Amino acid sequence: MLLKITFLGTSGTIPSVERNPSAILIQFEGERILFDCGEGTQRQMMIAKVGFRNLNNIFITHMHTDHFIGCFGLIETMSLNERREKLTFYTPNATFLEKLFKTFGYQYLDFPIEVVELKDGDIVKFKNFKILAFETDHIIPSLGYALIENERRGKFNRKRAEELGIPPGPLYAKLVRGESITINGKTITPDMVIGKPRKGRKIVYTGDTRPCKRTLEVAMNADVLIHDASFSSELQEWAVESKHSTAREAAEIAKKAKVKKLVLTHISARYSKDPLPLLNEAKEIFENTIIAEDFLSFEVKYPD
Ligand SMILES: [Zn+2]
Ligand SMILES: [Zn+2]
Repeated sequence: MLLKITFLGTSGTIPSVERNPSAILIQFEGERILFDCGEGTQRQMMIAKVGFRNLNNIFITHMHTDHFIGCFGLIETMSLNERREKLTFYTPNATFLEKLFKTFGYQYLDFPIEVVELKDGDIVKFKNFKILAFETDHIIPSLGYALIENERRGKFNRKRAEELGIPPGPLYAKLVRGESITINGKTITPDMVIGKPRKGRKIVYTGDTRPCKRTLEVAMNADVLIHDASFSSELQEWAVESKHSTAREAAEIAKKAKVKKLVLTHISARYSKDPLPLLNEAKEIFENTIIAEDFLSFEVKYPD
């Protein structure tokens, strides 16, 4: 199943010529999910040639404007495009967002908007995956999100099936569906030919945060960790004060959590053109690190 990440905005608080404020689009088969929706996200979607259809769920990490102010323009465009499907927002502060939506008269639109407040440990279920919200450490209430794919069934052991005398064809399909079969009076159960369920893929996005224990726990063995790396270590004090992370700190979390790939984002304007200092200090600790760029897009493949 296709699992693809597209970075629509990778700047820190202030946008730059190269970078738009935070927004990440994740495509899981036909489903599109947006994580954060900074100013101008809808235009970034147009440039990336990502349609607004099948986008029904937007997860906001926290209510700093560089993470959600783009949702108003997006909603109004959707309305002019005669959208009818419900659009759901998830946020650590529903009251605030609901008030703004009411102020703008969005209760009169032709499609319903739902605002759901999430807290640490809450799970939103989809057909093939779930989103887990986890508390992060920022100036205001703030959540990170993990997209966790459902377990996949184990591998079918064809050799074992042949040894058991099962002819290839519909009987294989039955076993794969979880049904037992009978061959020469002998019952064969699925577990005799199908391996243990395999873990699904996992993508974790922190939003703005200091390095924290919760991120470490949730990111354990993740395929991709997308972490705040606003500054280099030279500005460590400023990172602590503004409750962001340095590239080095993000790399330390990635290493401890044994993730497969680290993507640094929320890049401060001072490194916008040349983020090499961030990349270099992160790579000293965690080799498989890249810096997010606007419109960077890649597939997350199955490990096996
Ligand atoms: Zn921010
Ligand atoms: Zn923030």
